[in-house]
Order: sequence, then C-alpha cells, then structure tokens
Amino acid sequence: MKLTFRRYDLRLRHTFTIARGSSDIDPVIVIEVEHDGIVGLGESAPSGRYGESVDTVEKFLRSFDLSMFTDPFQLESILAAVDGHAEGNPSAKAAIDLALHDWIGKRLGVPLYKYWGLDPSATPVTSFTIGIDTPEMVEKKVREAEAYPLLKIKLGGENDREIMKAIRRATKKKIRVDANEGWTAKETALERVKWLEQEGVEFVEQPMPAKDLAGTAWLRERSPLPLIADENCVRLTDIPKLQGVFDGINIKLMKCTGLREAFSMIRTARACGLKTMMGCMIESSIAITAGAHLSPLLDYADLDGNILITNDPYDGVRVENGRLVLTDRPGIGVVPRA
Ligand SMILES: [Mg+2]
Repeated sequence: MKLTFRRYDLRLRHTFTIARGSSDIDPVIVIEVEHDGIVGLGESAPSGRYGESVDTVEKFLRSFDLSMFTDPFQLESILAAVDGHAEGNPSAKAAIDLALHDWIGKRLGVPLYKYWGLDPSATPVTSFTIGIDTPEMVEKKVREAEAYPLLKIKLGGENDREIMKAIRRATKKKIRVDANEGWTAKETALERVKWLEQEGVEFVEQPMPAKDLAGTAWLRERSPLPLIADENCVRLTDIPKLQGVFDGINIKLMKCTGLREAFSMIRTARACGLKTMMGCMIESSIAITAGAHLSPLLDYADLDGNILITNDPYDGVRVENGRLVLTDRPGIGVVPRA
C-alpha cells in the first residue's frame, strides 16, 4: 500500500470564533492510499486542542510505513499498528482509517453505510453552527442559515446574553448550545444552563472545563438541560467515566482516530446509557461524508464543517431540509467538485 498526502487550505465563509480562539483559514491534509489500482481517500483536520497541527500530521504520516501492509481489509491489525506508532496524533490516524475504509468500500462496490448494515433513510437532521461574534454579525449569520432548521450556537464568553438576544431577534428555531469549556465556575454554569432552558435550548455541550469532572457532575445534578461531553470525550476509553456526569457524548473522527473507533464508541455509549452525537472540525466533504455514513446510528448530528467553507474540493453528503442525505457511490463516496 502506498500513502501520499497534500496540504489543503479550507477557507471559512466567516471568521470562526469559539471560546478558545479564532480562524479564517483552516489547513487540512488530504491523503490517498493506493493499492491494487484503487485509491482510498482520507483527511486529517488537526486541532491544537488535541496537540496537533498540519506539521505534526505530516510528520506522523511521513514516519509511518504503510507499505509493510499488503491487505487493506485487515483493518484491525493495520489500525492497531497505526495507533501504536506514536501517542496522540488522532487526526493523522483518522486520515489513514478513512482512506482504508474508502478503499474497502470501493473494492467491494458498496457505500460505507451499506458495508455496516445501516439504513440510509434513518439519517438525522444536522445542526448548523454559528460561531461567536458581535450580536449584529450573529443575527446576520442566523438569517443566512435560513435553510437549516436546527442551529448550534457557540457561547461560553462574557456576552452570552447579548448573543442569545440577537439570535432570538432573528429566529425561533430549536437551538443547541456549545460552551467549549467556557464557564469555569460551576455556579456560573448553572445560572447559564437554567437561563438557556428558558430560551428554548435543547442541550448544552461541554459547559465546563474538561478537567473539572466533579464540577460537571455537580452541575448535572441540578441542570434542567441534558449535558453533552465533547472535550471530555476524546476516545473510547473515556466513556465509562462519563456515566453520571454527562447525558451524552459528542464523537468526532478527528479526536478518536477514525471510523472504526467511532463505531465502537457509539455502541459503548449506548451500553452506558449515554446519547450519541457526532460532531466535526472544519473539514472538507471527505471527512464529513465519512462521518455521515455512521449517522443512522446517532441521536444527534452536528456535521456541518463542509458547509462552513467556501472552497470544498469534494462533493459528497448533501443536506436537504437540514437532513443528511447519503451518497450511493462506493466507499466514502466523494468525487472532486466540477
Ligand atoms: Mg464542541
């Protein structure tokens, strides 16, 4: 198997700000795994929150010798070797996982949802994310998001109330809130969560810092809204300790090393009585479409990274009336945009 990769700069429609920082351009790495005349496509969208950058991804991909494997169907042993190659590097590992899954689907001539035995008509509605901004810009972005029936709003800063007021001036839609660890005191978090329930919010993602599990458990006992773990739920092994602390988890391919582990996380979370959501980073249609193939298993989807950019190089999953519509093409099923 031969692995090649290239950097690609995704351009954001609007400067994207969350509680942690801001960006206009988000670089990703597109990878190709070629074997037996078939090319599997994958993508890495590194996040500094998890210790990665395009440089660390390139370093990881350069240092891993995929040519020692001769059968892409042996996902279990190949991906175990990838994971054991170096600590961390989850999005670099995800790129290889995606490319191998794409290769297998293409070889078998089936889309991934079919390979996994999933019903393509059971895909959920995806939320559309509005980043932190001035109240005026937030109101403008909400109006631009008219086509999406479900919004996810980034809060966790000083002007949460102003932002929510601006949103409610523009729409009565159902809203999910992501605080990205922004409420550091548990009393503040409780006050915000109680207020958000009055504002018609469905759930709150990662209200408090990941390191404060005890504070989050305290909050959950008092919270009128479900709490979803994002920064607290990176990989499969994080799930058992989240029982009783959160109501659900946000799985991301770029945190958890790819589709194979994501599938296990969905099953494990369910067994632990936790709801499942799949989220994303700013990603092209390669990674978003890959994740969407698992979406028939999810309670909630937040797979909008490809909609937030203006230069997506690929065409894959579509969104119709907010709902994810899978492609029937084999593998991940993306094709270069005409
Ligand atoms: Mg989040």
